[in-house]
Amino acid sequence: MTSFRTLDDIEAVRGQRVLVRVDMNVPMADGAVTDDTRLRAHVPTITELSDAGAKVLLLAHFGRPKGEYRPEFSLEPVVPVLADVLGRDVIFMQRPDNDAIDALPDGAIVVIENTRFAGGEEKNDPGMAKAIASFGNAFVSDAFSVSHRAHMSTEGIAHHLPAYAGRAMQAELDALEAALGNPEHPVAAVVGGAKVSTKLAVLEHLVTKVDHLIIGGGMANTFLAARGVDVGKSLCEHELTDTALAILEAADRADCTVHLPYDVVVAKEFAPNPPTRTVNVHEVAEDEMILDIGPAAVEALADALKTCRTLVWNGPLGAFETPPFDTATVALAQTAAALTREGSLTSVAGGGDTVAALNHAGVAGDFTFVSTAGGAFLEWMEGKELPGVAALST
Ligand code: ADP
Ligand code: MG
Repeated sequence: MTSFRTLDDIEAVRGQRVLVRVDMNVPMADGAVTDDTRLRAHVPTITELSDAGAKVLLLAHFGRPKGEYRPEFSLEPVVPVLADVLGRDVIFMQRPDNDAIDALPDGAIVVIENTRFAGGEEKNDPGMAKAIASFGNAFVSDAFSVSHRAHMSTEGIAHHLPAYAGRAMQAELDALEAALGNPEHPVAAVVGGAKVSTKLAVLEHLVTKVDHLIIGGGMANTFLAARGVDVGKSLCEHELTDTALAILEAADRADCTVHLPYDVVVAKEFAPNPPTRTVNVHEVAEDEMILDIGPAAVEALADALKTCRTLVWNGPLGAFETPPFDTATVALAQTAAALTREGSLTSVAGGGDTVAALNHAGVAGDFTFVSTAGGAFLEWMEGKELPGVAALST
């Protein structure tokens, strides 16, 4: 287990300048922020530092301006939204300036313009890291979502200052540690989604870590095909059947039980509420597509989850955006939520579509932790060391 310093370890911040990497890459339409979820995640860290009297200097990127100033990628329009979310004044600075920072009162909160307007950000330029670090006395990273990137403001800067995890980062790292780092066994992993090819590394890592690997979604079709099942017109990566077999063998060697569906919901067209059949996997017709796992499979998976202490979930079990192919995902998510509420299961989920599916099921708030970190969450599922996390380790 890697350990890291948190805000509990920062001493005497009054009047000190603390550079804080946050995620301000919020969705915007016509120059207005449409969702402030990401900003809200940083409220505990920002208010705690500000209340302690630090001058809080926020660093963040917005979009992909590719190292040059482009007004449509300015962070300026996000500043009033952040001020609203915090209920405090927030100052905007085009670039950090020592005299201007000196003149600020203790506890001031500053947003510094998009780090990616300088080419050195994504190149992790050591000179830029040193220059930006010189404006602060300490560095706090509160943005797990960008910690899979070794950029100036996520990694490089940590080499020049004492570095700490902010509260959002700390919560994320604690949850991930409880789910896969040092979990209570038995551990189940649900891996679903469209394709095996996007999650090969995840599957390969998980078989060495978990007791039950539950495979659903389109990727289950590739595993079924590898086992000789005719999956008809289903989404299936036939060229990866050998890879799928190798994963099944690795699971066997590691004593990991792999759960593939034995019944599925099929349709001839991929549209809302088409005629469907629920069949054994061996009964899929050549003109049919598997679009969800079946009720018998869901019941068996629910029984497996009841024996587990920990669950990590990435990827929906079916094409959940299109009814009724959300049925299995919703049902298993509700089971996981109920077990979590009862206190028998620690449940951690992540992935863009997975978060949408759990929201659709109405249970995101019942999971122990839901990560919105996307790419960083997946890389962590792959067992990779994230540079922005490694930079915080003691
Ligand atoms: P995440 O974003 O949570 O990592 P993915 O992007 O890997 O998840 O996968 C989500 C997508 O997989 C969804 O768009 C869903 O419709 C699709 N999907 C799941 N099951 C199937 C299936 N049987 N056939 C086709 N697409 C599927
Ligand atoms: Mg996705």
